Amino acid sequence: MPHPLLDPLLRGSAPVRRRAMAKAITLLESTRADHRAQGDELLTALLPHTGRALRLGISGVPGVGKSTFIEALGLHLIRAHGLKVAVLAIDPSSTVSGGSILGDKTRMEQLSVHEHAYIRPSPSGGTLGGVAEKTREAMLVCEAAGYDVVIVETVGVGQSETAVHGMTDMFCVLQLPNAGDDLQAIKKGVMELADLVVINKADIDPHAAMRAQAQITSSLRLLMLHGNPDHDWKAGIVWRPKVITISALQSQGVDEFWAAVSEFRAQQTANGRLALRRERQALAWMWERIDAGLKTAFRQHPQVQALLPQLQHDVAAGRIAAGTAARNLLAAQAGQAPAAIN
Ligand code: GDP
Repeated sequence: MPHPLLDPLLRGSAPVRRRAMAKAITLLESTRADHRAQGDELLTALLPHTGRALRLGISGVPGVGKSTFIEALGLHLIRAHGLKVAVLAIDPSSTVSGGSILGDKTRMEQLSVHEHAYIRPSPSGGTLGGVAEKTREAMLVCEAAGYDVVIVETVGVGQSETAVHGMTDMFCVLQLPNAGDDLQAIKKGVMELADLVVINKADIDPHAAMRAQAQITSSLRLLMLHGNPDHDWKAGIVWRPKVITISALQSQGVDEFWAAVSEFRAQQTANGRLALRRERQALAWMWERIDAGLKTAFRQHPQVQALLPQLQHDVAAGRIAAGTAARNLLAAQAGQAPAAIN
């Protein structure tokens, strides 16, 4: 018997679909084993209906204007292009505080109530890997429900950018027209991930925005020499990351942004890089979750729990080599006799 949410998700009217999406995502976020089993069954049934949406990552430090921009972009895509837009988020702070960047109801006021938009705050609790996995699954739900563009928003702190880069077709970084910040982002390695850099708040000081544009463009050229596999200029499959200036507040530059996104998508689809990127992402996620699952099982194993405190102590004190302790713990988990410790 198919999962009861499947039909409303695929064929329901707009409000029915949105309710089914919320229920499906809640199910997928649940940590209960029976929910997880139902969730996996639902995901498998949804999978053939996924993959058609554009997956767009948007990152930037708090205050750079992400929600203002996503509101302007989302409304533009709905009104001018007839698209349906979903917005998800990964907020690393939500794993600690339970709060979330999309939890605030005043963000994206018009978009959040639009019938062709669906907005879901960051899942909270658990590791970043776990939160990212839930967001990835929520993305599949949105796609199966017929959303054309799925935006995944994240704050420019911690490892969440890497997680969002690892689940989207195109990764965009929002910047302030301030040279100091640009160097920060370059140092952190975020710029290497960017397919598109968007300098926001150009209305405040257009000259500063243009200077930032020139500076980031030349920095990106240097980064390209080191090679991002998605911008593989040596293989002749060039995507030169673009740098544009916008004013999210005045909805200026949204057209240009969408033109760049469309160009990227068309190019990367034609040269096969998009399919490759998704394949790589799916496999990387599988291994990431296997690693995480193995680690959890390892830590919960009674033999490991029995041996771990003393071994940690001995390793810290320099009495046992770290590698030897690791091998003994792994052997204990596998039910084998420990190797001689000396
Ligand atoms: P977020 O934390 O990245 O989501 O940033 P918000 O979208 O909440 O914006 C932070 C502040 O910057 C708000 O007061 C916005 O009104 C303002 N802001 C956003 N975009 C622009 C812009 O293009 N120009 C100006 N002048 N202010 C902006």
